[in-house]
Amino acid sequence: MSLAKELARSGIDVSDDLVRRRAASADFAWLSPVLQRRLPGEPADVVAWPRDGDELAACVAVAHRHEVPVTPRGRGTGNYGQAVPLRRGLVIDCTRMRRVLAVDDGWARVEPGVTCAALEGAARRSGQELALFPSTTQSTIGGFLAGGAGGSGSIDHGLLWEGFVASVDVLACVDAPGVEHVSGSATRPFLHAYGTTGVLAGARIRLDRAREWTGVIASFEDFGAGAAVGNRLLDASVPLRLLGVSEADLVANFPPRPFLPPDRASLRCVTPTGTVSAVIDMLAGGGGRVEGEGPRLVPVVTSLSYNHVTLRAKQADPAICHLQVSGPVLSDDPDAVRRCLPDGRLHLDAMRAGGVVGFGGLLISRFEAEPLLREGVIALTELGVHVVDPHTWSVWDGDGSVARTARRMDPDGLLNPGKLER
Ligand code: FAD
Repeated sequence: MSLAKELARSGIDVSDDLVRRRAASADFAWLSPVLQRRLPGEPADVVAWPRDGDELAACVAVAHRHEVPVTPRGRGTGNYGQAVPLRRGLVIDCTRMRRVLAVDDGWARVEPGVTCAALEGAARRSGQELALFPSTTQSTIGGFLAGGAGGSGSIDHGLLWEGFVASVDVLACVDAPGVEHVSGSATRPFLHAYGTTGVLAGARIRLDRAREWTGVIASFEDFGAGAAVGNRLLDASVPLRLLGVSEADLVANFPPRPFLPPDRASLRCVTPTGTVSAVIDMLAGGGGRVEGEGPRLVPVVTSLSYNHVTLRAKQADPAICHLQVSGPVLSDDPDAVRRCLPDGRLHLDAMRAGGVVGFGGLLISRFEAEPLLREGVIALTELGVHVVDPHTWSVWDGDGSVARTARRMDPDGLLNPGKLER
């Protein structure tokens, strides 16, 4: 019996319709001209939409018996091709597993398909809020844990493998997968591993006490002045859920709004309502012009952070590409950073990484050819910039723990194959 028929016979919603298979086999990898060219055009053979943990386990078991590759999927907003199946097979779309199972003091237990926005809503009803979430607020918690890194909350909490996840429930890719409960630091090989170490059936993740947040947007004559004030806000430990600075050429790609003058650099932040006046004083003291403030600006600021800046630039000019960059040199010598690539432009996002608070960000440039991009990466590295390459779908596995875990959880190499060197 075919894979699709066997899944359907178990009562699982399944489809082999080409349009649905194509939709379930794509993500935002098109932000990278390199990935766009390299990713295979062939979609998965079958898509399944499990509604609960039993159906999810059945999907994995049936796929394993058929020796078919399995690519788990949330909302498909990953931008490294994480959710794109390289070897066809079965895509398991987890978005119907979207229950918030429990909210307790400081933590929530969820199914993988709940969106960050829905979980934030559930947390708020208990007087709490999500400690960390990406700018793609409609993406799923499972996809964020398996494919993301940070976002709103990262100034306080760092990246998602730095205390955001208390435990995960994972399914191995075997004939009869049971749920493995993994907690604390042992969760690390399951985070940002693109589903290669197991299919996440649930997670327990961190909540904070809810605060009332306000968005503040200021403009600056030049990017350097905005970045300097951003650094002063971070040095003064002003509480911030989000802080970004973009140069004018990138602001010109944003939706036209009175508080985003397109000929000026823009600093945008989210701060507790009680600290707004202190923030405004610091912005004005550093040469900024406050363009707007209020709780209604929080979603605006969120939607102009992290790779949303790349998305806007790409929509304005399909010929651009981006690099994820970090290090003090971004704000100390932005000109030197820009010069590493043709038509380089900078956007900064503040975050804590490895315990250090500072600016990471995006270097957006004109894409000419891949060798030129690689030369740019070398020049940036020589300048002291740390570069994360968004033009690869390979899982980063510094200490080999992802590969070791994958060999145990996925002995036949069926989970999202081609993404991890095993
Ligand atoms: P998907 O893209 O569907 O999947 C991501 C990865 O997780 C895939 O490898 C998939 O196989 C795996 N996966 C999904 N569900 C499971 C599961 N149940 N078990 C095991 N593996 C699973 N990322 C950030 O970290 N911060 C940001 O601020 C941010 N901003 C972005 C802005 C834009 C415009 C874009 C395009 C992307 C951005 N991203 C960001 C990347 C991405 O949106 C996030 O990481 C998002 O949380 C991924 O969730 P998703 O539901 O879309 O997952």
